[in-house]
Amino acid sequence: MRLLPACFLIAAGFAQAQAPVASSPIAETAIATAKQLRDSALAGSGAYAITESLTTEVGARMAGSEADARAVRWAEAKFKALGFDRVTLEPVTIPVWRRGTESAAVTSPAPQKLSLLALGWSSGTPKGGIEAEVVRFENIDALKAAPDAAVQGRIVFVSQKMTRRRDGGGYGTAVGVRAQAAEIGGRKGAVAALIRSIGTDNDRFPHTGGGVWFGQIALDAELRKRAITLSDGSLIATTLVPAAALSNPDADQLDRLVALGQPVRIKLELDVGYVGEYHGHNVIGDLIGRERPEEIVLIGGHLDSWDPGTGAIDDAAGIAITMAAGAAIAKLPERPRRTLRVVAFADEEQGLFGGYAYAKAHPDAARTHVAIAESDFGAGLIYRFDSNVAADALPTVNAIGQVLYPLDIERGGNDARVGSDIGPIHKLGVPAFALSQDGIDYFDYHHTANDTLDKVDAKKLDQNVAAYVAFAYLAAEAEHKIEAPKKP
Ligand SMILES: [Zn+2]
Repeated sequence: MRLLPACFLIAAGFAQAQAPVASSPIAETAIATAKQLRDSALAGSGAYAITESLTTEVGARMAGSEADARAVRWAEAKFKALGFDRVTLEPVTIPVWRRGTESAAVTSPAPQKLSLLALGWSSGTPKGGIEAEVVRFENIDALKAAPDAAVQGRIVFVSQKMTRRRDGGGYGTAVGVRAQAAEIGGRKGAVAALIRSIGTDNDRFPHTGGGVWFGQIALDAELRKRAITLSDGSLIATTLVPAAALSNPDADQLDRLVALGQPVRIKLELDVGYVGEYHGHNVIGDLIGRERPEEIVLIGGHLDSWDPGTGAIDDAAGIAITMAAGAAIAKLPERPRRTLRVVAFADEEQGLFGGYAYAKAHPDAARTHVAIAESDFGAGLIYRFDSNVAADALPTVNAIGQVLYPLDIERGGNDARVGSDIGPIHKLGVPAFALSQDGIDYFDYHHTANDTLDKVDAKKLDQNVAAYVAFAYLAAEAEHKIEAPKKP
């Protein structure tokens, strides 16, 4: 193991990462195997072929759709073909929201069509649509501050722009508009809500995405009144008024029309809505540990996608990266000490139903799961490795970080931001990791018809697999069991 350059150590603030070989908490043979796995993945991991297979042979796979079942069969067969020891299906109760037809047009002062997609969980308009005057807001705070009289009987249009950032930080700020515009507008008397797409592109592709935060239902009396209870007890709701996202160029166009100063009227017709329950599955592939099979290292992504594209970057890439990492470990002459588990989570997009079902099915996860990480931020290069572990696990984690360093991955801190599907299990007290990807162009395609295989670069996927395979192998092989941070 070579020493890291001093500039890196200063930048990352991890002086303890300088441990020489002799005192490394991970055996030298394991480090050597991890480096081999890393380097051979970098030379060609097979992840692109898996991404191609899922996006071509299944295509778009919205939770609860006919394609959901095909995706589950695909994942089951793929795990088996890649040499996993055991493939398990765990049930997930999925509410089904159907996208039928959707259309919108300016009717005055200058009639023209608009390009839009209904937001997930939007309620539908009456047959024949609705027509009303538009009232525009620069951002969600302006809508919140508006008097009811300014909104009543109108279509609210929130034109808030998203900022492009490598770490996707602009999404967290902007996405609240998607989940709030219909609720806030509707409570003030609006008849529908339009938003500028939560996206960074200038293509005429609207971005869909969930229009309700189901997590809020329990906290909000108004939302609770119209909530639907699923058979497993979870609560869902459709939006208070119909809600859709305009593509960025269409939002620009509407901005200009409103700026002309005459009343702008829009006709909106959305044939969408909740249609019932579906019984789907998380698909789990295991490589059973040779010494401590009950201790689990979990990596994965989500199998479902939104419907307009083929879900290549979101999240066929994450499924492929983690499956390919598992497949490389499956080819070793012996299994790692602990079980390596790859999970293809059901229904992330419409409310994290797969992630919650997994946590519910594994209430003992704090004891049995020793490391979790999720790939769900496209197909860009990984540039940072963060952890959320107990202090006494840091030497082991830093040793893993040193194996990732030649991939141009810096060791970050111990306050990792955790992926969405593994969020519920992380809350049970499981050590978590984040392998952060460069997402500078991720929100150009995210949740659009433009999320297709051509956006995925095979070499970048290989670097991702190289990182995941080295990380997962070492977490599964290290003598020291990684523990979660002690609760204060
Ligand atoms: Zn995703």
